[in-house]
Amino acid sequence: MADVDIAIIGGGLNGVSIAHDAAGRGLRVLLLEQNDLGGGAASASAHLMHGNVIDLERGHVLRIRRALAERDLALRAAPHLVRPARFVLPAHADERPLAVMRAGLYAYDRLAPRSDLPRSEVLDLTIHEAGHPLKRSLRQALAWSDCTVDETRLVVLTAVDAAARGAAIWTGARCAWAERSEVWRLTVVNRGRRESVVARALVNASGAWTRAVAESVLHLPPVQASLAKVSQIVVRRIFDRDDVYLLQNDDHRMIYAIPYHRDFTLIGSSERGLAGDPAALSAGADDIAYLCAAASRYFRERVEPSDAVHAVAGGHLETARDGVMKLDRKRGRAPLLTVIGGSTAGARRRAETAVARLGKTTLPAWTAGAPLPGGDFAWDAFDDEVESARQRWPFLTERHAWRLVEAYGTRIDHVLGAAKSMDDLGARFGDDLTASEVRYLMKEEFARFANDVLWRRSKLGLTMPRQDREALEIFMASAS
Ligand SMILES: Cc1cc2nc3c(=O)[nH]c(=O)nc-3n(C[C@H](O)[C@H](O)[C@H](O)COP(=O)(O)OP(=O)(O)OC[C@H]3O[C@@H](n4cnc5c(N)ncnc54)[C@H](O)[C@@H]3O)c2cc1C
Repeated sequence: MADVDIAIIGGGLNGVSIAHDAAGRGLRVLLLEQNDLGGGAASASAHLMHGNVIDLERGHVLRIRRALAERDLALRAAPHLVRPARFVLPAHADERPLAVMRAGLYAYDRLAPRSDLPRSEVLDLTIHEAGHPLKRSLRQALAWSDCTVDETRLVVLTAVDAAARGAAIWTGARCAWAERSEVWRLTVVNRGRRESVVARALVNASGAWTRAVAESVLHLPPVQASLAKVSQIVVRRIFDRDDVYLLQNDDHRMIYAIPYHRDFTLIGSSERGLAGDPAALSAGADDIAYLCAAASRYFRERVEPSDAVHAVAGGHLETARDGVMKLDRKRGRAPLLTVIGGSTAGARRRAETAVARLGKTTLPAWTAGAPLPGGDFAWDAFDDEVESARQRWPFLTERHAWRLVEAYGTRIDHVLGAAKSMDDLGARFGDDLTASEVRYLMKEEFARFANDVLWRRSKLGLTMPRQDREALEIFMASAS
């Protein structure tokens, strides 16, 4: 008799989305994450929840249509995490011609027929505000609507909802060994203790670790795919607008510059063909210099390597943009489903397909249109939520209310409760992280260590002084 119907290796967006879908269909699910939820690809994500305009050049019309439909579903399911934004692509004399891109965007608008977001347009950068931070030599740009997403919180809240529907979510639990017969017998190193788990089916959703898990845990031939690296830097805000700038670099790579947690700008790009351990990836001096030079080609304010307050790199296996899903089902042997990569927008649908392919349930798909925790408000009512939070808890500053609504949506009351003042929320770490919020994150959102709070449940690590981080670590150790 198996302990669970499905065991999943990997607490990234693919793993938690499958756990969520499967638990909601009544299956017994166990998700194993060796470190913290969202500590892999999501931690280095470009934050783009989009149809990917660049796919137009490759003629991937159906793929874009599907991605845009998923983007719009996500905007409604998690309007606190997924925010609409104008994407601005300045036309550069040496790059793709404006007329060609304009025609493409005309098609892009029509591929999201039910979207309520504004349509694309050509901007005259000499008069439009989007031109203010850009070099004067740039005269025109294309602008269209897409979304940004806080991917680490998307991972965490998907896991929270999966757990509410019965999934067991084990963090700090590494799947070390798996033996396959009619069932899977897994050996898990769970926070230092060895445990055995029997599962009817296994999902390998270990992202950049897929090859290593296939080889050393599942004793299979390695998955054939090369590792791609994405490097990013965070600098103090270099523009005042909510727009996402997409910049065509002279080597034809796209660089993105995104407003990041109010006071910062995230600048990133992707590069290909790396080898090695995904856990050991880092943004090197060359990556940082490259990103600074690319951004300085467009923005009036020069970006220097010394401006980087944070640098991060993440790895993923190079796959088709929709990802790869491979089902290994042999007579008398428990099934193995390998799920690699894919876009952020496509994760919900991929999970739906994954659970259907495993065939362990006849219950229908249910996640399209279901809100994630805190997401039960209208996608265009974010500012109203901030305002009503300030009315209910008048001691909140606008900045604090905004951060809490962005993180918790309508669940903000789980953090603030009946507090009448900041003092009611207990000790403070940095500007506005309170003991009450940390306790909530530990109890409800699987946070164990200071970095779980500072980098995956929030990005407060960008601003929190060292002594406060240390105090937070001590507080969490004593509270656990
Ligand atoms: C740097 C980067 C930027 C991206 N940006 C975008 C973007 O802007 N827009 C977009 O649409 N898509 C983007 N993507 C793609 C998208 O974010 C990912 O495809 C998506 O997050 C799915 O990741 P995953 O769940 O497959 O892997 P991961 O998030 O990496 O999760 C895999 C997890 O498996 C765990 N694990 C590994 N081995 C074991 C083991 N033995 N036992 C237990 N756990 C284990 C790891 O610790 C890790 O947490 C990006 C991808 C990367 C890498």
